[in-house]
Amino acid sequence: MDNVNRRVKRGWMNLKVQQVIVETHDTKTFVLVDSDEGGRPWDYWAGQYLTFRFDGVAEKPIVRSYTMSSSTNQGDICGFTVKRVEKGIISNWLCDNIKVGDVLRARGPIGRFIYEPEKDREHLVMVAAGSGVTPFVSIMREYADKIGTTGAPKRMTLLVSYKSRQDLILAKDLEAFAKIAGCQVVVTLSRDPSAPANFWQGRITSDQIIKAVNNDFANTTFMSCGPTAIMDLTGAVARAKGVPDAQIKNESFES
Ligand SMILES: Cc1cc2nc3c(=O)[nH]c(=O)nc-3n(C[C@H](O)[C@H](O)[C@H](O)COP(=O)(O)OP(=O)(O)OC[C@H]3O[C@@H](n4cnc5c(N)ncnc54)[C@H](O)[C@@H]3O)c2cc1C
Repeated sequence: MDNVNRRVKRGWMNLKVQQVIVETHDTKTFVLVDSDEGGRPWDYWAGQYLTFRFDGVAEKPIVRSYTMSSSTNQGDICGFTVKRVEKGIISNWLCDNIKVGDVLRARGPIGRFIYEPEKDREHLVMVAAGSGVTPFVSIMREYADKIGTTGAPKRMTLLVSYKSRQDLILAKDLEAFAKIAGCQVVVTLSRDPSAPANFWQGRITSDQIIKAVNNDFANTTFMSCGPTAIMDLTGAVARAKGVPDAQIKNESFES
């Protein structure tokens, strides 16, 4: 993937909030358009993030990164999805204060936590917990309807863990992806023992990762996002099954 023909906007952009979507009890999606030029005058790859600068929330400006949970095939907007972090300054400020019409300052897009068709393998395996699902929703949005075509994975598997069904971020999107041939979505719940049998139970384990890919590690690229323990576990399982380091990618949300 190269940068040829990619539209970029240099420096800090003023992004107007066009929509606020309540996803769960502690998570919201903010849909943005460029407040100066309208629409989205920049391109991005699914999985990339924007870096936001918040002036006036604390004494000094605060900078935080948020992955775009949208994909470019959703049109001329972009969106990011924020989960409240306990005692977190910005995640709570965004969820409590930001409304339609407000303007946020951000720069980007940034990051290589993306699917790279010329390097990556045909089966993309994504492992996440909590808000770590956001890059994978973007990637699935981008590739689900192109699956098996040139430039897209042939198969996608998402294994994601939450505490309970109430914590499921972007649940409708996950349900829709699961219905597409070649896309598999597995949700495991660590504190919801009465959930129906289509949910797996417990935190993500090595056995769950092996089961999710049906013990078929040939032609896989692994991407993992969430707490360090999940990224370490995913990497260890993949390596033990012969997946080369170049096919194991991580993104940490804890900067
Ligand atoms: C590349 C990148 C992409 C990101 N994308 C997203 C995204 O799409 N959605 C999203 O909700 N967040 C995302 N994050 C995390 C986000 O940038 C903030 O770190 C998060 O919102 C917490 O900020 P805060 O100001 O509320 O918390 P702070 O005031 O910075 O932290 C408060 C406390 O929470 C702990 N903490 C900080 N971040 C986390 C975390 N992520 N999980 C658990 N504990 C934490 C800190 O150690 C501290 O104890 C991303 C981070 C990076 C680096």
